[in-house]
Amino acid sequence: MIPFLDLKPAYAELKPGLDAAYARVMGSGWFVLGREVEAFEQEYAAFCGTRHCVGLGNGLEALELTLRAWDIGAGDEVIVPSNTYIATWLAVTAMGAKVVPVEPTPAGPNIDPGNIAAAITSRTKAIMPVHLYGEPADMDAITAIARKHGLKVIEDVAQAQGAKVRGRRTGALGDAGAHSFFPTKNIGAFGDGGAVTTDDPALAERLRALRNYGSRVKYVNIERGYNSRLDEMQAAFLRVKLEKLDEWNERRRVLAARYDDRLSGVSGLGLPRAPQWAEPVWHLYVVRTTRRAELTKALDAAGIGSLVHYPIPPHLQQAYADLGLPRGSFPLAETLADTVLSLPIGPHMTTESVDAVADVVRRSAQ
Ligand SMILES: *Cc1c(COP(=O)(O)O)cnc(C)c1O
Repeated sequence: MIPFLDLKPAYAELKPGLDAAYARVMGSGWFVLGREVEAFEQEYAAFCGTRHCVGLGNGLEALELTLRAWDIGAGDEVIVPSNTYIATWLAVTAMGAKVVPVEPTPAGPNIDPGNIAAAITSRTKAIMPVHLYGEPADMDAITAIARKHGLKVIEDVAQAQGAKVRGRRTGALGDAGAHSFFPTKNIGAFGDGGAVTTDDPALAERLRALRNYGSRVKYVNIERGYNSRLDEMQAAFLRVKLEKLDEWNERRRVLAARYDDRLSGVSGLGLPRAPQWAEPVWHLYVVRTTRRAELTKALDAAGIGSLVHYPIPPHLQQAYADLGLPRGSFPLAETLADTVLSLPIGPHMTTESVDAVADVVRRSAQ
């Protein structure tokens, strides 16, 4: 049996540090917005290479609050990938702004910078690239377009903590980076959590007010804010995990390379291929196949977990039926949704397990 992802070994490996973090927070009697969050914010900003980090409730709100902090809302347009997890779109529409989807590169999975200029109008305010599966989007090209048109860039870093473009970390490449610490992400909390990284002091200051009811001074509310705070316990846990992030990402890279090796030449199977300038962090190892149903069945029969990220692109979800974007509107995103399959990967998976998965994939292709 090889599960798609098992989170229990993470606790086993880090138990002394995590248990000490738990005891420290419990003993402090202070649970929201305190020393642990402040320390994590400093450590995570240093890790990403930004001047500021603001801890928030989750990744979705990291995206939402950044748009809100830039006063992006009704009447504005935000360019988003057609091929992404729905959270990216939800953040834009929650603020009352319009999503303008742009198709991925033919190889996928990320937004094709070559298609962005044609999507820009006088109402466009921001571009929201997603580093899907831990593979960095083409940030050099995207930021160049944004600069030319005076647009903000907010990276959705939910799947790519630690990834790099030409040596610089994701989350430090645009005007803001929105991070999720959902338990399954490369750095996951033991509950929900999120953050925004940025070099912009004004954005950081506005986010600190927005996350706390629009208040800087207790019971003085300068604007209508939210309750979206990273809590002390999660911050204390995340500090322990941050020390391991590079090492765990490196373990993922080794496993991905093993998959590449074992799966090369399998007929009808497309392997993920990162551009030369990118250092992906393999949040997911996603293959493409036109025989997905048979392959999934073979993996199931062998006791191997697999998942589809994602089976329905946002524009075909019932949640966005009102946008009137029928099948055929974004053919590349639709084809990816029909052909992608995520194989098991994680920092605690063994190379033997990768070999076992690859054997089943290989045999099912014959
Ligand atoms: C997980 C995820 C989010 C949302 O993060 P939450 O912390 O679950 O709110 C946003 N975008 C992408 C691409 C994600 O994978």
